[in-house]
Amino acid sequence: MSDPYAGLGVRRRINAAGALTRLGGAVMAPEVVEAMAAASRASVDIGELQDAASTRIAAATGAEAGLVTTGAAAALTLAAAASIARWDVAKMAALPHAESFPRDILIPRTHRTGYAHALAASGARLIDIGHNDRGTGAGVRGLEAWEIEAALAPSVVAMAFSVNATSLPDLPTAVAACRANGIPLIVDAAAQLPPKENLRRFIAMGADLVAFSGGKAMGGPQASGILAGRRHLVASALLQQLDMDVAPETWSPPKLVDRTNLRGVPHHGIGRGFKAGKEEIVGLLVALDRFVKADDAADNTRLEMRLRAIAARLDGHEVSLVPASVTGRVPVLEVAVPDALALSADLQRGDPPVHLSERHAARGVLTLDPQVLLPEDDAPLAAALRSALERRHSIAAAPSSR
Ligand SMILES: *Cc1c(COP(=O)(O)O)cnc(C)c1O
Repeated sequence: MSDPYAGLGVRRRINAAGALTRLGGAVMAPEVVEAMAAASRASVDIGELQDAASTRIAAATGAEAGLVTTGAAAALTLAAAASIARWDVAKMAALPHAESFPRDILIPRTHRTGYAHALAASGARLIDIGHNDRGTGAGVRGLEAWEIEAALAPSVVAMAFSVNATSLPDLPTAVAACRANGIPLIVDAAAQLPPKENLRRFIAMGADLVAFSGGKAMGGPQASGILAGRRHLVASALLQQLDMDVAPETWSPPKLVDRTNLRGVPHHGIGRGFKAGKEEIVGLLVALDRFVKADDAADNTRLEMRLRAIAARLDGHEVSLVPASVTGRVPVLEVAVPDALALSADLQRGDPPVHLSERHAARGVLTLDPQVLLPEDDAPLAAALRSALERRHSIAAAPSSR
């Protein structure tokens, strides 16, 4: 098959930065690609397909129900829209204009990532709460129950929580406060995979809605994600995502949707602009199945062997292997270099362009993350990195010329 990128004059890049959206996310397994191609050659009822997806996602996550979205960001917008509208078709029709009804979502200050915009896009108003000294490194205290309770008002429809290793200890506090007050807790776990145990973990801890990316570590289509959680909320999210150009007389709703809860048939909702296609839904489900069944220990051992071989080609430079047991996800190589961002820019300008993760650049480290690195790219990556490091050393060693 011809190279679609070459035909467009777009260069392939060596990606040792991880499944980043700006680099196209996951590289899909042939099994996922083939399922998507087969899915594209038939017509199906998307609601019926989402019902089947819900059953699979529920089995994989332990949630009551699940929905395939066009990414974790879309899942967050839909989660917020579901929390605001629930079964109310008039509210669904009004979003994102929610000024006249309850629409506040509490968000701890240190959870306000760039992705909080996705929650606000529903029409929700975000209310910052708490101090969270632990999150900022200013002190030992995390989120406390009274900080949530003090902010709870009739206008509050949900609370948002961005989960990671730092914020995780505060999750039970947030769950308890939300339970006591009957509001859903929406958890952004977009990039908390692997480990695959996290598919079930936040639901098991009591989160009401959890968003995952499908196009990152899960290995699904780039524009896919999961919203898993309470059945009635997932159903509301599904309704607000579906194509609703239907005749009320002939519409047969997905099984997730109990029509007796609806006083009418909704119009296109806030999620209509990010519809999940049949190809994405099928691709995501095949990827999810593979992800759940994968032998992480064996995969990580293979990745470690590849990283050791790359490290061996970089002898004389400061590289260290950090095992999966320490990163909590996949093993990585850390390359210590004082001007990490300058080296990164140099590598990105190369031919072929090479990307390492800049997540620890502030402490003088570029991270070689093998999550989506193709095995055939290992040798050219090592060569490019070696010569870029040597160029920087010779620049550093050269007497300054004026
Ligand atoms: C990547 C990411 C998102 C967005 O996920 P998409 O699947 O790309 O929409 C949201 N939140 C966090 C923390 C992320 O890392």
